[in-house]
Amino acid sequence: MTTALEFTQQLSEHPKSAEERAAILANPGFGNHFTDHTVVVDYKVDVDGNGGWSNARLEPYGPIMLDPSAAVLHYGQEIFEGMKAYKHADGTVWTFRPEENAKRMNLSARRLALPELPEETFLESLRRLVAVDKEWVPTGEGDALYLRPFMIATEAFLGVRPAREVSFRVIASPAGNYFGGELQPVSIWLSENYARAGRGGTGEAKCGGNYAASLAPQLEAEAQGCKQVLFLDPFNDNAVEELGGMNIFFVFADGRLVTPELNGNILRGVTRSSVIQLAKDRGLDVQERKITIDEWRAGVESGEITEVFACGTAAVITPIGELKTQHGSIASPGSGAGEVSMSIRKQLLGIQTGTVEDTYGWMT
Ligand code: PMP
Repeated sequence: MTTALEFTQQLSEHPKSAEERAAILANPGFGNHFTDHTVVVDYKVDVDGNGGWSNARLEPYGPIMLDPSAAVLHYGQEIFEGMKAYKHADGTVWTFRPEENAKRMNLSARRLALPELPEETFLESLRRLVAVDKEWVPTGEGDALYLRPFMIATEAFLGVRPAREVSFRVIASPAGNYFGGELQPVSIWLSENYARAGRGGTGEAKCGGNYAASLAPQLEAEAQGCKQVLFLDPFNDNAVEELGGMNIFFVFADGRLVTPELNGNILRGVTRSSVIQLAKDRGLDVQERKITIDEWRAGVESGEITEVFACGTAAVITPIGELKTQHGSIASPGSGAGEVSMSIRKQLLGIQTGTVEDTYGWMT
């Protein structure tokens, strides 16, 4: 049994001034600016082979001292999470289903042979950081404080084996609308030259390597004027998997809502599972199953598929206007911003921002 760790707290002597912070919060962008503090918890395996977490602390945000031989720099033994904290009208700050992120990080930890962090320590880390840096939560529409917990192998050792020294950290970054500006349907690019995951690979884990591998196809996408990449499973009839940073849903005219099943290749999106719950409670027939690119094309042509949308922490729900491929494109019906997508988006965003009652107990 693990007991909850005691945290120590050292506040920054050089926090950003209120004016600097206000200037940043007025136009936060995504991932450019960081709050004044960070949380760190260390893990070490002792000579008897017993591992444990210790030295939980909140400290000023700043560069990390790492040995050049630290395992993370060579073999990419790293995992991370992402979630948002929202400021409600009464000034209170809320996170959305953070315990789901705690669970998913431990799933990633098992795949990357990193130690699991007690969920309570994960949650306490978020609480501590948000409490001291609460002035950093932006209040503009669609804005939030993005929280980035991550775990890295810090041991100075070049052998290929799980590191015996690891650190868990949390940083926070004020964030605006991920795609910038008004919500508009996005065009996405079909990756045919690169796959994201393979059977037995790390697709289901949120590890840095998956994102490093997505950059080359992301460049292809940008060259085609697209903001995101769609990945397929080329060994499974070109089954649709997910986007570089979002899960995908298809709305059918007859009330079906289809999303690729969790087959070990795709990320268990917290937004995905929330959308499934909201849709079921609206009486939609939610199907988690294989859907191929051919079914997508045929469904749009026949009028069976009426909307396609992507979902994730960063983008909430974003309609997909068009899938571009090397051999032509599949345009979504209408403008792409369909009724079902927009209505679920409104409900979900309302729960997150406090304007719709949270009957699910999702907010913490
Ligand atoms: N898929 C991938 C590959 C992602 O990076 C993300 C973002 N974390 C998602 C899906 C959506 O997950 P969530 O809803 O938990 O943000």
